Amino acid sequence: MTAIAVLGSTNMDLVAYVARAPGRGETVTGREFRTVPGGKGANQALAAARAGGEVVMIGAVGTDEYGSRLRTTLEHAGIDTDLLHTVAGPSGTAHVVVDDEGSNAIVVVPGANGTVTALGPGEHAAIAAAGLLLLQLELPLRVVTEAARAARSLGVRTILTPSPVQPLPAELLDAVDLLIPNEHEAAALSGYDDPHAAAQILLRQVPEVVITLGGKGCLYAARGGETVPFPAPEVTAVDTTGAGDTFVGTLAVALGEGRAVPEALAWASSAAALCVQRPGASSSMPYRSEIGAA
Ligand code: ADP
Repeated sequence: MTAIAVLGSTNMDLVAYVARAPGRGETVTGREFRTVPGGKGANQALAAARAGGEVVMIGAVGTDEYGSRLRTTLEHAGIDTDLLHTVAGPSGTAHVVVDDEGSNAIVVVPGANGTVTALGPGEHAAIAAAGLLLLQLELPLRVVTEAARAARSLGVRTILTPSPVQPLPAELLDAVDLLIPNEHEAAALSGYDDPHAAAQILLRQVPEVVITLGGKGCLYAARGGETVPFPAPEVTAVDTTGAGDTFVGTLAVALGEGRAVPEALAWASSAAALCVQRPGASSSMPYRSEIGAA
């Protein structure tokens, strides 16, 4: 089994369930409230661990009660948290609104995640020992770039989820092996709404791209090859929070096990489809046995 290092955010998701999300200046009454461990980094780590991966989490939590709950959640999933630092101040939080159609709107306040600005010797060693490095953009861009470049120099395959989307320096993209944007991120990064066109543009910067398309599945493209669509299983979505992270974490495990891309994508799609059928993000991520059964 290939170890997976995840450098990323750990947040407490403060989730309100509403019939319809409020517009600007509007107040609506929610139906339910939950606190759910999240953050794109922690979610990808959890998805990978549940899918059977050996996972190391690199990041930071705060000294508030969310911080200890976040750490415990990851540890219970079997994730190595030695490099998840505890720093004075609040943990990251994500303020999530989920509507009756299962769509979400999210505000992220970085908290402790914002203090992760450089890698130490322990972080470099963990990346060197891993077969794959998962990155997202909820930590400062500087440290994400440093990690990608370290991985590249060590021959460690890097997968970047460009979320929240922002302009990416060539210095970072040059060190990314596989870019996994969703439809909106792909459009923002490439300037093309059509995902086929977006994929071809993004391939100028990275050798492989997967664009996720929600209920429509995903597109895969590698330099010099065609853009190949992979449909998603047809399911009834109740909450799509965490679908993308489930997809990426599961895909990483499959690739780390040496599975071919089509098989790895089918496995990731199956895991993400299970995730959207249940409420919550981390809590709705499937275990390996369920993914196999689906
Ligand atoms: P994100 O959650 O990052 O916005 P997407 O919405 O594109 O990403 O979803 C990621 C993946 O989750 C999709 O490629 C698909 O495999 C799966 N997925 C999302 N929504 C659905 C759905 N309604 N039905 C089945 N699978 C879904």
